[in-house]
Amino acid sequence: MRRVFFVVKGTDLLRRAVLNLAKHRDLYKFTSVNMDVRDLEGKDMTLNRREFVAGLVASASAPTASLAKAVGSGQLTLGDMQVMTLSDGHLTLPRAMLFAGLEPDAVDQILQSRGVPDGPIHPPINVTLLRHAGRVVLFDAGSGPGFQNTAGQLTSALDAAGVAPEEVSHVVFTHCHPDHLWGVLDDFDDPLFPNAEYLMGEAEWAYWFDPNTASTISGDRASMAVGARRRLEVMEERLSRFKDGQEVLPGVAAHASYGHTPGHMSFELRDGQKSLLIGGDAIGNHHVSFAKPEWSIGTDQDGELAGKTRARLLDMLAHEQMQLIGYHFPDGGIGRVEAVQGAYRFVPSYGE
Ligand SMILES: [Zn+2]
Repeated sequence: MRRVFFVVKGTDLLRRAVLNLAKHRDLYKFTSVNMDVRDLEGKDMTLNRREFVAGLVASASAPTASLAKAVGSGQLTLGDMQVMTLSDGHLTLPRAMLFAGLEPDAVDQILQSRGVPDGPIHPPINVTLLRHAGRVVLFDAGSGPGFQNTAGQLTSALDAAGVAPEEVSHVVFTHCHPDHLWGVLDDFDDPLFPNAEYLMGEAEWAYWFDPNTASTISGDRASMAVGARRRLEVMEERLSRFKDGQEVLPGVAAHASYGHTPGHMSFELRDGQKSLLIGGDAIGNHHVSFAKPEWSIGTDQDGELAGKTRARLLDMLAHEQMQLIGYHFPDGGIGRVEAVQGAYRFVPSYGE
């Protein structure tokens, strides 16, 4: 049995700390938790929130393998832009959900031919970190603590990359699904990046900030809408919106890729002839969507539009030899797209 003691002052913080421990019991492999609460008069022993979480992680037996994988999975430079991907962990999605609406045998055949093992799909989550001209920019924010217990590991990855959450100057969003947006809030529902400005496409903002969306979206997505709205409310004062084609930051242009969500945006980083597309979920997987770009996948909100967008992007990426970061692609998600016999193939670059 591992015993973890914390000195905590204030009942509200204690309550939240206990909730936090309970929530992460699986991740940190606690067999038992003992809380020893002492209020040491005259001594400033109160931990602030961040220190408390850091203490928790340091004391617990966090899985070292996933921490080692958390950072450095892929990196590249583009002129004076330094880009790397950080792992937020991975998701676990049943095939029937991810490929809802498709013929299961046809899906299985593609997955088998591309070497995907039977059973659920485990898409990695690759958050892009850009360092450029004094800015520290994240593209999407990961899942945060409340989505799936194999995800929400961005803080560990940032730590391993030597980036404190306070240093993040901008968070640019592709869209408002949980695994991209929910990580903006920490274990205590406070903004994880206290000094960051948020940037989001106008249409994406308008859709998810609309309080009617939770009742007009399909029932299985209603909780996503409620979760998105709650976070957008917290972010509103520090959020600016942009349109398709706009240069959202120097060297970073917004590229509309609607369909997966109503206002989904990808981002093109360019230095002379070299360019990179941060694709988000416009191209959501490297197997079925590369074999059959126009097939709707279960997580696409407007399947027909998403399919057309995907086909257009893959064609552009292959012809222009742009690099691509896929949010849910393997090996850190950085690579290139090759056209092969009427379909496409993802070629990971391993940070070359
Ligand atoms: Zn996603």
